[in-house]
Order: sequence, then structure tokens, then C-alpha cells
Amino acid sequence: METIQIENLQITLENQGATTYSKVSYPLRYGRFNEIKTPGHTFQFNLNGELKFITGRGKEWPSPSEWLKRTLSGDWVYYSAGGYDGPYDCFGEYYIPCLSYPSNSINSFDPFRDRAVLSAIEAYASLHEQLTKLDRALLPSSVGSFVDLVRLNPPVALARKAARIVEIIGDSVSVLPPDTRHVDYEVIPLLIADGCLYKCGFCTVKSRLGFKDRSRENVENQIRELKDFFGNDTPNYNSLFLGQHDALHSDPGLLEFSATRAFEAFGLKESYLQHPSLFLFGSVDSILKAPFETFDRIEALPFRTYINVGLESADGETLRRLKKAITAEAVEAAFAKIVAINRRYQRIEITSNFVFGPDLPDGHIESVLRLARKHFDRHCPKGTLYFSPLVDAAHSGWKKEIKRQFYKLKIQIPVPAFLYLIQRL
Ligand code: SF4
Repeated sequence: METIQIENLQITLENQGATTYSKVSYPLRYGRFNEIKTPGHTFQFNLNGELKFITGRGKEWPSPSEWLKRTLSGDWVYYSAGGYDGPYDCFGEYYIPCLSYPSNSINSFDPFRDRAVLSAIEAYASLHEQLTKLDRALLPSSVGSFVDLVRLNPPVALARKAARIVEIIGDSVSVLPPDTRHVDYEVIPLLIADGCLYKCGFCTVKSRLGFKDRSRENVENQIRELKDFFGNDTPNYNSLFLGQHDALHSDPGLLEFSATRAFEAFGLKESYLQHPSLFLFGSVDSILKAPFETFDRIEALPFRTYINVGLESADGETLRRLKKAITAEAVEAAFAKIVAINRRYQRIEITSNFVFGPDLPDGHIESVLRLARKHFDRHCPKGTLYFSPLVDAAHSGWKKEIKRQFYKLKIQIPVPAFLYLIQRL
């Protein structure tokens, strides 16, 4: 680690963060990064000189243990410790990601109305301007090289890069699997199939495309361009998201090829972070259709794999209300197979999503509890159930009730159960 002071800037290179993702109740950075402290803020940069985190240093900043993160898509996410009402029981994490775009958030607190948070984002432009005026000759060469990289990344260039990722993979990723919380949503996206099977009426994130596998050539092209895109920062990633909404429905050979090629091409074995993970979505049909041989192949991949399946409900009336074109019987059969897969494989975890809303039929929660009781007679740590709050303007009053209602449900479920906050790439 090397630190220099120049003007009012303290620049520290080669910071080493943690090498394993873990759930902690204090700010923890992962992998390697560089940092600039100004009197007002701490700015942290990835190894391409792109701004990634900002923390305020003044007394106006909401909390010294909270921070802003810039995502691959150029969104700002504020990490809130949740005040006295710690978020772990609800979300399985010690921090709640507060998003700067509409989602199904249940927070009453909106950090993006806080002047100190907005000023922190604006402060980057001033820092960038100051860096462009620094006399390069006064800087040690390592610091000079870092400053050169940051100079290439004014706010407008960062916005261009965020748009570039959509060009490379050929679509925007409107939702990440909830399991990506285990790696703080830090995934390399690779789309192996477009669209989804059901086009459910209630869904706010669906793609306009029908389901179709991408070609191997398309996957290879994405990998090649993504390698350029991630560049020097590639070793700060150890996880892959195979999109889009139902990668499990794609040809198993394509899935295996894509995961293996990406693992090699991105050098995930040499990542600064241990324990590579693979994330994808499945569906009722893809779970029921896939033979166990497909899961044997996934188990053999060099990843721990999380597959998230949108079941929504095992109650026919609720499924009709949601305009989801599957039957309660199919959901029950899919859940039985999910439980069997979770028991059979060490390195695969299949998690399930159910909706959670204020005016769903009574049979909905009863159906979830019936499934849980049928398959588990004691606590089981694997096979998390996620409950996705149906939050819209018509039910804004229900937001205050969600946590209380959720805790009442959670204590009756013998597997981990958490709320699902929809987050995009
Ligand atoms: S819930 Fe899943 S399957 Fe239904 S429309 Fe949305 S993405 Fe498609």
C-alpha cells in the first residue's frame, strides 16, 4: 500500500480488501482498489480508475458506516444500516441497498432526497477537474499512472461505459437473482437466452422478447467484449450471472459451455476473491423438464451454483390473479423437485420466490405453509424462500405493515426466508 498527500488529496494505492464475501455489520470492501480522500469525501476506484464507492466524511453524512456504490449499469445504490431496526432478519444482510430507481423497496427512507448524498455524487465532477489540473510531474509514477486512469473517466465517460455493457450483452438486465446478494450483486453478466416462458401479468421486469437461446458464437462474442470491458478490474470478480430470465430452460450443453468458457476466459480461478459462484434463474417448466443429468453437469462446474425459481404461489386462485400461466399442481411438483435437488447436490442451491401482497387470496399464504410443512419436518438451512413484496402506489400504506406481516410468516417456515428486493445489474 502506498499513500501520498498532494494538495488537499490523500491518495492511497493498492488497498487490499477482503478475499471472501461475508455478512458483516460494518463497511467492508472486497478485492483490490485505489482511494482518494478529500476533506469532504472518500472516493474508491476499481482497477480501471472508475469510481465505485463514495462515503461522506462530514457530519452531514447520514452515517459513517454507510456508503454509496455505483453499479455496472451506472446506478447509484446507497447502503443503509437500517437504523435501530436492523435489516438482517428481513433481508439476510446487514445492509439494505436503497436504490435510486423505482423497485419494490419497502423503505420509508429515501437517501436520494438527502442533500449530503446528492452532493457526494456531484462532488466527483469537482474531484475529477482537480485531478486533471494536477501537475503530473510532481507525482510518483505509480500515482501518476492511477491519476491518468481516473482522468479517462469523467462522469460522462462513466455514463458511456454503463451504456456499453448493454450493447455488449444485447439487452439490459432488469433483475438479478436475489441470491446475488451473497456476492453483493457483483457479477459478470452473460446472456445465453432471451425472454421468459410466461409473460406474467403482474411482472414489472419481464422482457418483451419470447424465449430463445443465444448461439455459441454470440456467447463467445459477449465473452470477448466483456473481457475488454472489465479489463484490469476482472480479477475483482469471482461470479457469473447467466441470463436472462430462465437460463435453466436453455440447452444444457449451451449452459455448460457458457459457464465453462466464462470461467476460463475471465480467469475466475485466479480471482482476488475466493469461492466462485454462478447465478441463474429457472422456472416451473425448466425445473420439471430438466433431467437429473442436467444437474449432474451443473454440479461438476467449477462454481457453487444458485438457481432462483419464480413459483409465486401454490394457490390456483392467486396464480390466476397474477396472470401467471401455470397450475398449482405444477408449482407443487416443481417445489418437490427443488427440495430433492437441494438434498441431492452439494454445490447447487435452488431458491424459490413467492409473492407477498396485501390483498392476495387467503389461499396464497396457506399454500406456501402447506408446501413447507409437507417437505420439512425440521429446520433445513438450504433452499431459501424469497418473498417479493407487491408494492405499488395503490398499496403504499401497506409498506408500513410488510415487516410485521413477514415476521409472522417467517417464524412458521423451517427454511431460511427473506424479503426479495428487486435489483437490476
Ligand atoms: S415473473 Fe418471471 S416468468 Fe413471469 S413475466 Fe416476469 S420474468 Fe417472465
